[in-house]
Amino acid sequence: MSMRTAIVTGANRGIGFETCRQLAGLGYRVVLTSRDVSQGMAAAERLLQQGSDVIYRPLDVTSHLHVMDLFHYVRRNFGGADVLVNNAAVYPDEGRAPLEVEVEVYRTTMDVNLYGPLRLCRAFMPLMLESGYGRVVNVSSGSGQISSMVADTPSYRLSKLALNGLTLMLADEVRGSNVLVNAVCPGWVRTEMGGPTAPRSVEQGADGVVWLATLPDDGPSGGFFRDRQPIEW
Ligand code: NAP
Repeated sequence: MSMRTAIVTGANRGIGFETCRQLAGLGYRVVLTSRDVSQGMAAAERLLQQGSDVIYRPLDVTSHLHVMDLFHYVRRNFGGADVLVNNAAVYPDEGRAPLEVEVEVYRTTMDVNLYGPLRLCRAFMPLMLESGYGRVVNVSSGSGQISSMVADTPSYRLSKLALNGLTLMLADEVRGSNVLVNAVCPGWVRTEMGGPTAPRSVEQGADGVVWLATLPDDGPSGGFFRDRQPIEW
């Protein structure tokens, strides 16, 4: 098997960075992306020093131009991407109620957490279909579960609910191909987003992401998982 290429968004820190570290450890060529160039380059450098095959590329997932730059770079250098981990997200409205939050906040959250993954899937999934191999992992959250929806952190919850819907739609669109599309909740993880009191380490949080990124050909598609087990939508 030739070396597989994995793209991870929002990977300068947290679960994204740890996903890069674990995938590189499994022998993947990892394209570590971030919107902050200096932080992203420093993160990639840390992995390079550990002997990982990591390439840094700038990517703000709200920018169509950035996505297209990344697309041309990856296609030119590696032919395409085998794995796409849509990890980047914002969490701007904790502790606020749906009627309090300005529409502009909903709009900007959707732009990162929903349209970001959509932009990347639109760019890279056609190449995956062409090559006959692809694993798309949408890093979602239990906050997006419609079965337990509550009135807190509304723009974030709505964006993850919609990301789950996008996961189902894309999985259906490519059903029968070897492109598997799934959503994952990493659990409550000690990161900048999760805070210092969260019970899980980044290693634990990234485990389910990496599991879905490396599924065998007969693996699931159109599922929502935590700890490698299906969970309710
Ligand atoms: P984090 O430490 O806050 O990292 C979020 C990453 O997303 C950062 O690298 C951030 O970059 C990046 N990002 C934000 N906006 C971006 C944009 N427009 N373009 C590119 N990158 C952007 O959070 P985390 O805990 O690792 O979260 C990773 C994923 O897990 C997210 O999808 C989150 O919703 C999900 N999740 C986390 C938890 C948890 O408890 N931590 C629970 C459930 C789900 P900057 O450094 O530039 O801001």
